Amino acid sequence: MAFKPANKIQDLQYFGEFGGVNPSISDSSTYTFLSAKTMFDTFEGNADGCYLYSRHTTPSNLYLGEALAAMEGTETANVSASGMGAITPTILQLCKTGDHIISSRTIYGGTYAFLKNFTPRMGIDTSFVDITKLEAVEAAITPNTKIIYCESVSNPLLEIADIAGLAKIAKKHGLQLLVDNTFSPLTISPAKLGADIVLHSLTKFINGSSDTMGGVVCGSQELIDTLRNVNDGASMLLGASMDSLRAASILKNMRTLHIRMKQHSHNALFLAEKFEADGLKTVYPGLASHKGHELFKSMMNEEYGFGGMLTIDVGSLDKANELMELMQERNLGYLAVSLGFYKTLFSAPGTSTSSEIPEEEQAQMGLSEGLIRFSIGLDNDIERTYQMMRQCMLDIGILQPKYSLN
Ligand code: PLP
Repeated sequence: MAFKPANKIQDLQYFGEFGGVNPSISDSSTYTFLSAKTMFDTFEGNADGCYLYSRHTTPSNLYLGEALAAMEGTETANVSASGMGAITPTILQLCKTGDHIISSRTIYGGTYAFLKNFTPRMGIDTSFVDITKLEAVEAAITPNTKIIYCESVSNPLLEIADIAGLAKIAKKHGLQLLVDNTFSPLTISPAKLGADIVLHSLTKFINGSSDTMGGVVCGSQELIDTLRNVNDGASMLLGASMDSLRAASILKNMRTLHIRMKQHSHNALFLAEKFEADGLKTVYPGLASHKGHELFKSMMNEEYGFGGMLTIDVGSLDKANELMELMQERNLGYLAVSLGFYKTLFSAPGTSTSSEIPEEEQAQMGLSEGLIRFSIGLDNDIERTYQMMRQCMLDIGILQPKYSLN
């Protein structure tokens, strides 16, 4: 019987050394060997179950990795010190000088900057395409293409990638499909839809308490072994390894992810519907007006909803800044980048998380300066939050009062 992702987290069972209900934390950077021969074999990659050195991996990191692999339905996973610490070594492991990447043009600004400005220094070029147009993706393939890269729900425009469609193209041409699922953990399961590799910034929803950075690459055992190889593995050699204490704390937070995602989604849908009814230009995958609404519905694990991210466009950067400052002053959330916190977080992506993208390219992809990206929090009374947000919008003239004649 095929179990759904959340059940797989629920079903994990690890005990601590003394019967603790949480696994013991491996608070060591290095590990002893009973014999010199075993140490040699471990360096050769031949001693299963032996730990070497914490940059390679640790018991705590393996526990977290297994939980994430279970969630995504991949063979295994490797955790890292940040989301970028998962994304960049994976790309560098799969591509060498002369290779070519096809990437969605709307992706997180840091990933965009890596592909646009950094990998060309190694002779790896990227074509940025509108990922919602499968024919544009296929047309961009060259004999040197190795990877198709996208986000399930893109940052910040919330475009939806047709993962099954992209997987079909990738298979046909012998390419690897890499999907960053940071915006939609549990709601979308890219590997189930045919993605070869699923990436996350754990810094966001999965950890959910904005107290740490983290990342993960979920994929085949072969891929993860390659990334960890002591001789030529990019994760091992570039060194963005996670600390065991953090791995243990993220694992504990992850156990409530299914409850949090439902609440984030419930609150975001409530606000999106209200904002749209008020006449605000609102983008949320749960709205019928969203271009990718039907596609999202066809891919989603229904019970988790449409996710916690939405955007509104208030016309100008000045208005966006005024609104965000006022909402923060009235304790409706924080003017901060990142996402997945218990409090609502808001920022204007054009001047923050996507500022790496040149202005003319922002305009081309529809990233307007008045756009505000919201990561909706876990508010218990979302109607009250809505009324207070609406009042902020009325106070600064983004919304006009509705007059009634009777
Ligand atoms: N992927 C997405 C979609 C993101 O939004 C971010 C960060 O904002 C990252 C990756 C990078 O993750 P980190 O900041 O943990 O390195």
